[in-house]
Amino acid sequence: MSGRREFFRALISPATQRGEAESLHPPYFKNEADFEKCRECEDKKCYLACEEKILKILEEKPVLDFSKSGCTYCDECALACDHGVLDVEFRSDIGIASIEILKCMAWNRTICSMCNDVCDQKAIRFSGFFNPQIDEALCNGCGFCIGVCPSAAIKVKRGEK
Ligand code: SF4
Ligand code: SF4
Ligand code: SF4
Repeated sequence: MSGRREFFRALISPATQRGEAESLHPPYFKNEADFEKCRECEDKKCYLACEEKILKILEEKPVLDFSKSGCTYCDECALACDHGVLDVEFRSDIGIASIEILKCMAWNRTICSMCNDVCDQKAIRFSGFFNPQIDEALCNGCGFCIGVCPSAAIKVKRGEK
């Protein structure tokens, strides 16, 4: 993780519940139905492999939780999976972020660029200091912007480019 991200992550409240993304899985699966095989997996090596600690196990399956960090696409969860569910061959973008205008401070006349500061993809475009918008062609759904947003205005949803 870069020093810049480390700095912004330090600002996140540990109590925050934002970034829960229970329908999003690590970005290395072919079919969602394959996650049924996770029920037979006892050691959950994908969960243990994630250095960003963004995986949690929900109903025996790995799901992403962006409340404290994001996905670096490091491949480690896929390399750790020995049940044929996650595989680097199936790597794809997690999804695309969106900003809820009514919640976003910069859409409501207050200067804020926390999301922009952590976005390595440079996928957030401002008009001057205000009105940020996601460039869907650049966003890879990494989720780093979610935990740093002071007003919980960002979500990542699966989507095709
Ligand atoms: S690719 Fe890396 S950071 Fe992303 S979920 Fe897998 S282990 Fe975690
Ligand atoms: S989810 Fe998209 S907008 Fe947010 S930090 Fe990642 S690339 Fe940038
Ligand atoms: S961090 Fe949140 S409140 Fe701030 S500009 Fe980005 S979306 Fe808006």
